[in-house]
Amino acid sequence: MTSRFLLTTLLAGAFATPAHADVLVDNFKGYTVGADGTVAQVGAMVLDDAGTIKAVYAPGQKPSKKGVRFHIDGKGRILLPGLIDAHLHVLSTGFAALTLDLSETTSLADALNKISAFAAEHPDRAWIIGRGWNQEKWKLGRFPTAAELDMIVPDRPVWLERVDGHAGWANTAALKAAGVTSSSQAPAGGSIDKDASGKPAGVLVDAAQDLVAKAVPPPSARDRDLAFATAQRIFIRYGLTAVADMGSTIEDWQTFRRAGDANKLYVRIMSYAMGVDAMKLIGGPGPSPWLYADRLRLNGVKLYMDGALGSRGAWLKAPYADKPDIRGLPQLNQTQLGNLMSRAAMDNFQVAVHAIGDAGNGTLLGAIDDLSQTYKGDRRWRIEHAQVIDPADWPTMGRIAANGGIVASMQPVHQTSDRVMAEARLGQDRLKGAYAWKSLKGTGATLAFGSDAPVEKPDPWAGLAAAISREDENGLPPGGWQPQEKVDRATALAGYTSQAAYAGFAESRFGRLAPGLRADFIFVDTDPMSASPAEIRKTRVLETWVGGGKVWDAADPDAKGITSSETKPSKGR
Ligand SMILES: [Zn+2]
Repeated sequence: MTSRFLLTTLLAGAFATPAHADVLVDNFKGYTVGADGTVAQVGAMVLDDAGTIKAVYAPGQKPSKKGVRFHIDGKGRILLPGLIDAHLHVLSTGFAALTLDLSETTSLADALNKISAFAAEHPDRAWIIGRGWNQEKWKLGRFPTAAELDMIVPDRPVWLERVDGHAGWANTAALKAAGVTSSSQAPAGGSIDKDASGKPAGVLVDAAQDLVAKAVPPPSARDRDLAFATAQRIFIRYGLTAVADMGSTIEDWQTFRRAGDANKLYVRIMSYAMGVDAMKLIGGPGPSPWLYADRLRLNGVKLYMDGALGSRGAWLKAPYADKPDIRGLPQLNQTQLGNLMSRAAMDNFQVAVHAIGDAGNGTLLGAIDDLSQTYKGDRRWRIEHAQVIDPADWPTMGRIAANGGIVASMQPVHQTSDRVMAEARLGQDRLKGAYAWKSLKGTGATLAFGSDAPVEKPDPWAGLAAAISREDENGLPPGGWQPQEKVDRATALAGYTSQAAYAGFAESRFGRLAPGLRADFIFVDTDPMSASPAEIRKTRVLETWVGGGKVWDAADPDAKGITSSETKPSKGR
């Protein structure tokens, strides 16, 4: 394998470096995760000059130094495989980080100061967009006004979403750009805050927000590139070397491609198109090949079975405990669901479906079970969130696991964030099937972990801590919520490494430290196999390496880009 690779590169003249320019990485305390999800210790590794792992040595084993030209000294630190987030939203994470955040403001004056500073920092932005304000927290006793914004930003539109997303605050330039005047009518389900003279005062509530929101220009390609660069920077600082993008639009995909073409794709992306139309547009007749030396692939499609628990959009078998007249709603009927899944599966696209409520999950499992009769082989049907599954449906999951394979793609931090809300929505009896990580793994399903960023921070350390403790960042509830569903450390680490790679058909390329796989690894200051959950949450990522190249160094945080071998898409396998 190696000699053929070298021969090809020599013939192509792709590398100026001499033939055997292997890299020895040693002097660390390392862990790798096996394909089966078990954790083993690693004492040293040898990488080739294409950024692939050639050999892995157990502690105490003597590495072969033949052909080794470079040395990376681990300095006794902890080394782990690069972490993988199995469910997040790449561009939204970048855009959220670029948007003005008012959620910490304590008064109107405080907010106005922040808005003014943000506008000054971003003279090139045509609109100032932000979110997170709350007039209750400011003790204002009324909505803020356009006139107040005009005093600090008179020349450009400003549009700021309230903390709950149920109201928006515009300045006069934004109202003008949107054509909102004294004679504007609020649509059904919305209202326009008016001043004494009947003029729009600045705040638009619920459905009326769209009057201004639709005037906000869509992001340009340059905006998207910036958001993507921002998202990648966030990911590598958390030690994420690969992510699954759950709902890529064609614009998102083209953003990833532009980065790949410019050698600026630092994080590996497993993409799931936002619906079947985007899937066909991006993938055409089937999933894309792995591009840019295993840094990008369109794997399949993301579909939605139902909504979320918080807004009572999740589809339940029995009514909501705290609103007995509703059960939530499916977003697709059974025929639509079957048709869309079939359309994807017939061309071997992987199917990932958002399902939260027990009716949503039960119906989805039934649909997968049916389709498994037609679409055989290794399918790895993915359920995104798999949040509430009736134990009566667990055997169906087990049956699918044994046939085409099934992935429970879950977000440990959702459990800690949702706990109180979930108890209210579901009542005691349904909690057994809620966020049931260990039980779902017990059915034979593959447990892959993620964050759903930007809904939660893309912080795998908070996720690892929650996964093994079911306690939140304040240690609540002590001993963990529904503690029987905690997973052990190896399962948690595997959920963020080997199993997340498997969930995206990437297990032969990355996700573990093993010969033939891409050299994606991180140095950290905390041992996740022995530290307390509270310590794991505080883990500092010291260095992040992707494909044998360093993409993040805490000691040199402003360094740009990749510092070693795999600077260009190589002719790797
Ligand atoms: Zn999501």
